[in-house]
Amino acid sequence: MSYQSINPFNGKLLKTFKELTDQKLETAIKFAAACFDKWRHKTFAERSAVAAKAASILRARVDEFARPVTLEMGKLIDQARGEVLLSADIIDYYAKNAERFLAPQHLKPLTGKAEVESTPFGILFGVQPWNFPYYQLARFAGPNLMAGNVVMVKHAGCVPQCAIAFEKLWLEAGAPVGAYTNLLISYDQVNHVIDDPRIKGVALTGSVEAGKSVAARAGQNLKKSTMELGGSDAFIVLEDADLDKTVAWAVWAKMNNTGQCCVAAKRFIVVEKLADRFLEKFQAALADLKPGDPMDEATTLGPLSTEGALVQLLGQVKEAVANGAKLIMGGKRIDRPGSFMQPTILSNIKPGNPAFREEFFGPVALFFRVKGEDEAVALANDSDFGLGGSVFTKDVARGKRVAGRVDTGMMFVNHPTWTTPDLPFGGIKNSGYGRELSSLGIQEFVNKKLVRIASIDAAA
Ligand code: NAP
Repeated sequence: MSYQSINPFNGKLLKTFKELTDQKLETAIKFAAACFDKWRHKTFAERSAVAAKAASILRARVDEFARPVTLEMGKLIDQARGEVLLSADIIDYYAKNAERFLAPQHLKPLTGKAEVESTPFGILFGVQPWNFPYYQLARFAGPNLMAGNVVMVKHAGCVPQCAIAFEKLWLEAGAPVGAYTNLLISYDQVNHVIDDPRIKGVALTGSVEAGKSVAARAGQNLKKSTMELGGSDAFIVLEDADLDKTVAWAVWAKMNNTGQCCVAAKRFIVVEKLADRFLEKFQAALADLKPGDPMDEATTLGPLSTEGALVQLLGQVKEAVANGAKLIMGGKRIDRPGSFMQPTILSNIKPGNPAFREEFFGPVALFFRVKGEDEAVALANDSDFGLGGSVFTKDVARGKRVAGRVDTGMMFVNHPTWTTPDLPFGGIKNSGYGRELSSLGIQEFVNKKLVRIASIDAAA
């Protein structure tokens, strides 16, 4: 069964869901197409009223929405609440700003008049991951619904209750049937949806493998796509960093969402002068985390999202060690029910070790010692990924300079990479292409249409 809610805290099967039949899928696409014909002609104010209502429902019932996140994928309850509120902020941000972002752009041609209008594409199809079960949906649906598109979403198999809750949210907010459609469908059906001529754009957030498959299919159909894929973000610590504050951010950057963030810090690159002291404090802070029920506010270390995710990560650590990495701490599953892993630090990872190039999606930190800034930058750039990254230094001008030299889509100075509605999000290299959020995110699936008005007597 592809769509199952299993609580990773105790392995209990909560609920299973059937996939849509091809016939029901066809009906859903028909509804979406009919909905688009009306939705595209609504005013921004009308669409904004629906989006603002969706945001206010999320805020008013934050606990109700947070609960299935914690139950289905093990996010600490406080972080789940934070995700619900962040999703509300994103939807609200586009409710307030979409009209301004998509206002016609008046050009100054040599003669006559011209403008560029932004008109919606039609039905968009999103394939989304489990690690932020609402935030990922909000950053796809919020801008695109406000732009006048309608969206259909295939969510990850392990978070069907969140997927269904988010669809209900839009209906309750007054969106017409077909504006937001959740699809419990197979990979074959994903391909079928991408091939369907009524689908006009495709957005995927997930692994590189899924990205290659979905982007190739979209490409075969000449459909625009955006890809938000994995990362192996560098967390660079220069010798003049504030050590205690940097370590506190290092723990947050590694352990937020139990390390299951695309922009989690994955490679800790620390200049020699601070390396031993950084490692000692970082290790102590990680050792202090308390595993337990993610529903319990006192818990600071939750389970991984699924047993499969845990098994895969344990395998990667084993393989890294077999290829010469040194295990500084952790590396094993925690001896208790549920899919818990010890916070882990690996060092001595040389090029040639598969760990040097892989993404570790969980509580595993790769630790590197470097001589100075140049070596830090070179190592940060020696990656197939290019999502985010951060650099810590008391000298902000130096931080900006280092940020400018690292090839990623996002760099943060004195802060871990993170997300807010008004900042663009996305990567380069194997981390994908396109941007979500901010004024850029809403431009991805609109037709930039030139309208030219000239005198009939003007020269050609
Ligand atoms: P995943 O296995 O790629 O799954 C993501 C989504 O793609 C799920 O809905 C999955 O469905 C679907 N999928 C996977 N393979 C597919 C295929 N061949 N055809 C059609 N659909 C397919 O990724 P994950 O392990 O759940 O998520 C973690 C990954 O996402 C990490 O690499 C992380 O870095 C990345 N991520 C990136 C961003 C970003 O913005 N750049 C944000 C969050 C996460 P099923 O669940 O049914 O298999």
